[in-house]
Amino acid sequence: MAEKSWLKKIAALRRLLDDVGPIWPAPSTKLSGYAEDGPYHCEDCTFLKRDKEGKPVADESGMGRCNHPVVIADKEVKKDKSLLPIINIEKGCCEFVDQKGHEDGEKEE
Ligand code: SF4
Repeated sequence: MAEKSWLKKIAALRRLLDDVGPIWPAPSTKLSGYAEDGPYHCEDCTFLKRDKEGKPVADESGMGRCNHPVVIADKEVKKDKSLLPIINIEKGCCEFVDQKGHEDGEKEE
């Protein structure tokens, strides 16, 4: 369940989209702006579901899962049996990406 503040933001975002139409550039989804054409990617995002060792959780086809409330609420993003968004770890990204800080000298891939 999304935090109350996220539920309010999601409702407000839906009202805004109803009012003004799509905000994010195509082919991004309307609510969260999820797309799979880079240049940023889910791999570095704090909302990517990870195991206890911090490695991304991926299914047999290599797709990851996202824990962000807006992406969970986004009907255009495919979901698994647990209703978690199925995302492309290497090429997916959305407007709510929250990247981990990089160490000094570490380059973005
Ligand atoms: S879909 Fe967005 S919030 Fe979810 S892991 Fe990818 S970049 Fe992060």
